[in-house]
Amino acid sequence: MKVMILGAGQLARMMALAGAPLNIKISAYDIHSGDLVHPVTKEVLGHGLESSIDNADVITAEFEHINIDILKLCQSSGKIFPNAESILTGGDRRKEKILLDRAGVKNTRYQIIENRADFDAAITYINLPLILKSALDGYDGRGQWRLKTQNEANAVWQKITKFLKTSPQAERQCIIAEPFIAFDREISLIGARSADGTMAIYPLTENIHTDGILSVSISANENEKLQTQAESMFKSVADSLNYVGVLAIEFFEVNGTLTVNEIAPRVHNSGHWTQQGSDVCQFENHLRAVCNLPLGSTNRIRPTAMVNIIGEATVPQSIMSFAHLHWYDKAPRPRRKIGHINLSANDINSLGESLRQLSMFLAKDQFPALHEAAHKLI
Ligand code: ATP
Ligand code: MG
Repeated sequence: MKVMILGAGQLARMMALAGAPLNIKISAYDIHSGDLVHPVTKEVLGHGLESSIDNADVITAEFEHINIDILKLCQSSGKIFPNAESILTGGDRRKEKILLDRAGVKNTRYQIIENRADFDAAITYINLPLILKSALDGYDGRGQWRLKTQNEANAVWQKITKFLKTSPQAERQCIIAEPFIAFDREISLIGARSADGTMAIYPLTENIHTDGILSVSISANENEKLQTQAESMFKSVADSLNYVGVLAIEFFEVNGTLTVNEIAPRVHNSGHWTQQGSDVCQFENHLRAVCNLPLGSTNRIRPTAMVNIIGEATVPQSIMSFAHLHWYDKAPRPRRKIGHINLSANDINSLGESLRQLSMFLAKDQFPALHEAAHKLI
């Protein structure tokens, strides 16, 4: 089976590694250069979208910010999973909100902002503090502004105006305003859906973000009530999209109730713990779903934490005596994810101990959330 992935980053790399034992041959189409590359070695395998589509049995994507013309071409080949509409929905917050409302899934209140009058109306109708997000091209907290007081309104609006003017998709771009949610925790659910509607869903994972970027994700606690809520929302969203592949849903937990923050139509950073913590990891289950193979068990075999390596953070090799290192072969750059560490243990207390041990090897300014998590005794 030959699978072509739209996007040639670390998610494509990890799918290629997971697909090798199944004899699934992965190539990655770099949408910026138009090159078809091997996602691990970066060897160039071809050039151009049409021939790359012709040569693939199945097409999938590692990110959602893909030009509509590329997605249309892939959709017309009948080979792309999840379908182009699912990817477009994940890449446009307006479409995402409409989908969630239509599927009856609780999500944050919002208003669309296209001009100053909309901005002022949002301040009136949604109480401050507000969070403002670009509808398109947002990731890792980019394209986001916070408005805490009316005094900051002019300055924030100026930044937004500049952003809108310089946005690569200026004519389609706009801003979504949401109330700032004082959540108890951030949680996400990762699951796979097959073409026949079968689903395999992982246990929830708790996420800690720093400056809008995921830092630490911990899958250790059972919470049947939250798991049931999250799975029911997952099923509604996945069924309404006729989704095939791995889908991630991010939630805010407030007083034991979940509200959807956003969805990601792909394997997700908060699912990297599954590489060491579950029977079959998210990368393999995504490939199984899109290649129409039986889905694998999503059981959590042991409590596991994932710690992102971001920017210029350094990691001593000695942690390999008790942790798993996953590098992405990417040059360090501020705010860039260049690898992650998975840490597993037999029980939650031992995981807390291991996290504390790990925090002693890693600098506090480079891994602030790890230090916070380790000392909160998760
Ligand atoms: P990702 O990298 O997950 O794609 P993103 O840039 O698309 O992120 P969000 O997930 O919407 O954007 O926001 C990033 C983070 O900002 C969230 O994980 C959360 O910590 C915070 N955040 C976003 N929206 C809100 C909100 N309405 N209230 C409070 N915090 C929020
Ligand atoms: Mg997010």
